[in-house]
Amino acid sequence: MFRQTQDQSLRPLTTAHLAQTMSLLVLSNQELHDRVITELSSNPALELLDERICPGCHKPLSSAGPCPVCSRQVEGEEPIVFLSPRDSYRPSRKRTLEDQPLDQEPAAPEDLSVYVMRQLAADLKPEDRNVAVYILASLDEDGFLTSPPPYIAQATRSSLPQVMRVIDLIYKADPVGLATDGPRQTLLVQLDQLGEGEEPHCELARQLLRESFSELGRREYDKIALILGISPAAVKEAAAFIHDNLNPYPARAYWGSGRQPQPGDSNVYHTPDVMISRNPSVNDGPLMVEIFSSISGWLRVNPLFRQAMPEANEEQSDEWSEHLEKANLFVKCIQQRNNTMQRLMGLLVSQQSDFILEGARFLIPMTRAQIAGEIGVHESTISRAVANKSVAMPNGRIIPLAKFFDRSLSVRDRIKEIVENESKPLTDDVIASLLQEEGIKIARRTVAKYRAVEGILPARLRGARKLSQAA
Ligand SMILES: [Zn+2]
Repeated sequence: MFRQTQDQSLRPLTTAHLAQTMSLLVLSNQELHDRVITELSSNPALELLDERICPGCHKPLSSAGPCPVCSRQVEGEEPIVFLSPRDSYRPSRKRTLEDQPLDQEPAAPEDLSVYVMRQLAADLKPEDRNVAVYILASLDEDGFLTSPPPYIAQATRSSLPQVMRVIDLIYKADPVGLATDGPRQTLLVQLDQLGEGEEPHCELARQLLRESFSELGRREYDKIALILGISPAAVKEAAAFIHDNLNPYPARAYWGSGRQPQPGDSNVYHTPDVMISRNPSVNDGPLMVEIFSSISGWLRVNPLFRQAMPEANEEQSDEWSEHLEKANLFVKCIQQRNNTMQRLMGLLVSQQSDFILEGARFLIPMTRAQIAGEIGVHESTISRAVANKSVAMPNGRIIPLAKFFDRSLSVRDRIKEIVENESKPLTDDVIASLLQEEGIKIARRTVAKYRAVEGILPARLRGARKLSQAA
């Protein structure tokens, strides 16, 4: 046994302690919540008290908000980082106003059907309006039709040509390629909008989509080359062209204000593990960093169970001490996890305050290894702590914690901003040279790649969108 000291983090870790801490560290709060429930139901030595107790110093908390002891500020500009007794910031019936500033709700994405409808308004005949509303309202989350056009005609008491006329208008609105029957047709529609002739890859890309779509999905370039009687290199180039310039899931593309959650964000959208906010009581004060608990209430080793130990008969004794040992270890490992999260967030927030307040362009490039070095832990510890976690930012957006380490983010954000502010669509070449003027050395191909990652369509498709908006 190790000697008891005040600070759990200063004690050397046993192998079991370390292994379990690592396995808990990699979980999101949501996942840890399930894990805690499982432990509670299988171990009578563990108990959850329905009390507001500070997870940091274990003192009872009287009011809502951070623990006055643990959230004491150390230095002027340093963020206030504290462990929270609540398990999330989601609105709940128990919620009070002071508990939950309203502006911390995630920004509601603009409704796609409304956004497209506004573009179509001028082109729609009065009798087509209902049809358009019906189609837009029934698109699935990828932006595809959920029922075939003849069915839509029947449902809206219109004719098939009428339905096809409306669908054709929707095709050309931003984001280009909505209301098709699937990814293949969407890509073909987008290709049509790109215009012919100008792009040498267009014709081959169209042929690939028409004749070898499933092989394309499986990346069987050699097989396609054989079927079409062309070189594998040409097939690869056309496939790269499709990948860089087209988006098979139009509803997930960058459209409108671009504030829609990106793919991959969806699973973290509503339950952040950490919330960063401005201190509401001090103007321009230090940032507040609240690290949520995986479960609200206070998890501890049941003292009654410990007291009852001497009364255990021989048969029970082994089982009971095993329960006790496991409960002890579990509680310690959760504390260790909290401790690591607290130190990690303290360091990240103090170094990246400009990124947090001003946006992605101010992200300072750093690695998990650097942070590990500064905290004095192994890099794999930081990787686990960062994995599966999400952060609610002061503007209400919830982002994966890993974005703090995304080196390409600031450049991608700048590209997004350039596109948002363009008066006419700028080509990747022009964007690359604009970035070079700002000191960012970047190749046209990289611009195309980052643009594709952000779901921004190429200049010529954005041109089509501007035209339909102007109409
Ligand atoms: Zn405290």
